[in-house]
Amino acid sequence: MSLKKTEITVLGGGVIGLSVALRMLNAGREVTLIDPKEPGTGTSFGNAGTIAEYAVLPVGSPEIIRQLPSLLFNKNSPIAIKRSAILSLCPWLIKFLYQSMPKNAARNAQAIASLVQGSRMRWEELSSQVGGESFLKTDGNIYLYPKEELLDYGIRDIDKRRQLGLNAEILNIDELKKLEPNLDLSEGGASFFPDGAYMNDPGKMVKLILNASINKGCQIISKTATKIERVNDGIKVHLDNESTILTKQLVVAAGAYSKKFAQQAGDKIPLDVERGYHVEYDMAEPLLNRPCCYAAGGFYMSPMSGRLRVVGTVELGGLSPKISQHRIKYLEKGARLFFPTLSNPSRTWLGFRPSIPDSRPVISQSSKGNDIVYAFGHGHIGLTLAPITAEIVESILTKTKTPKSISEFSATRF
Ligand SMILES: Cc1cc2nc3c(=O)[nH]c(=O)nc-3n(C[C@H](O)[C@H](O)[C@H](O)COP(=O)(O)OP(=O)(O)OC[C@H]3O[C@@H](n4cnc5c(N)ncnc54)[C@H](O)[C@@H]3O)c2cc1C
Repeated sequence: MSLKKTEITVLGGGVIGLSVALRMLNAGREVTLIDPKEPGTGTSFGNAGTIAEYAVLPVGSPEIIRQLPSLLFNKNSPIAIKRSAILSLCPWLIKFLYQSMPKNAARNAQAIASLVQGSRMRWEELSSQVGGESFLKTDGNIYLYPKEELLDYGIRDIDKRRQLGLNAEILNIDELKKLEPNLDLSEGGASFFPDGAYMNDPGKMVKLILNASINKGCQIISKTATKIERVNDGIKVHLDNESTILTKQLVVAAGAYSKKFAQQAGDKIPLDVERGYHVEYDMAEPLLNRPCCYAAGGFYMSPMSGRLRVVGTVELGGLSPKISQHRIKYLEKGARLFFPTLSNPSRTWLGFRPSIPDSRPVISQSSKGNDIVYAFGHGHIGLTLAPITAEIVESILTKTKTPKSISEFSATRF
């Protein structure tokens, strides 16, 4: 039985799906959004909150090839792999290693740099549209290098980013202390990205986008989509209560859960998951004035309203909701490197980065046409890229000129 006929259906209500939904509602279209959970409470809720125009380097790089064995099999490294998942991860890992070769990594960096540019300005527009200006902070972001040899690495890192047109500075420990008085490094320094921005509550910002969408007439269906299929008069979306939705156009934006829908639409996309964690410490003043990333440790310390969020690490190993206590302890230990008096965290969290081996999201029509459009695979920078993704998706749905070149994000590139 057909439950409903609709014009545009968005499958998945994370920051990507919600930004697309609001954009299409603003364009006067009828939009239905499907998500079994409260939209915006998945990965889009618990991230580091950075709007990271400086995050132009792909995860896969020549350095990572050299470091991978020790990173994966040393229990105290920022990257971990679940032993039980090694076999199933092999196809993704092989593609990841290929994408880490110098030529590929350079091409991926160029593509990401072009996509990410202008993200802060787009978030300023989106946040003011939904009444979330007070959550968006524009004080820049920092990478910490608390040892001389780490700072040498930081200087090389900054050079690569500058070559891609980014604004970045090296800070010595006195300059860092002026920006972050609670950080007391005895050696090393930091990189400062003055154009970086962040949200001090990504969950609340995403909720505002949801509310704005509902106010503009978005229909929310709190069900799990189980299958999509092309039929004569559109796309049929099957739901877990055995009802269906018939839609003229469908946007697949289910984050790390999107792969099977792309496959049902005829496209094989190498999407896997980089699991990430956070621990939060409740406190009136969250110790830092802006997100500070301990790059060698693979985590950020981000000031959120009323709490400090220590967030990051990569764990390869699928979508199981089981939290690794070892990863949580890793973050706690990392936080105490900088703030030794921190006690036990107030809460912990696990999220799923939707990751493609080349670190480039898929923002594209399906290989069979724009009746199905993909917007997933944003990996480490999905929060940053949500507004530009929505803009591109609108142009694909409406067959108008895209705001940027999108060939590097095509579903047919694999
Ligand atoms: C630890 C960590 C730190 C991060 N820090 C940053 C950062 O500082 N800056 C940044 O830009 N990015 C960051 N990211 C990445 C960013 O959070 C993600 O890229 C982004 O949230 C992905 O958004 P999404 O909408 O694609 O997915 P999600 O937020 O995961 O949303 C997908 C939605 O799809 C729904 N869904 C799943 N299956 C179905 C189904 N069958 N039917 C219907 N709905 C379904 C889910 O319930 C979910 O609500 C971080 C990620 C992690 C894990």
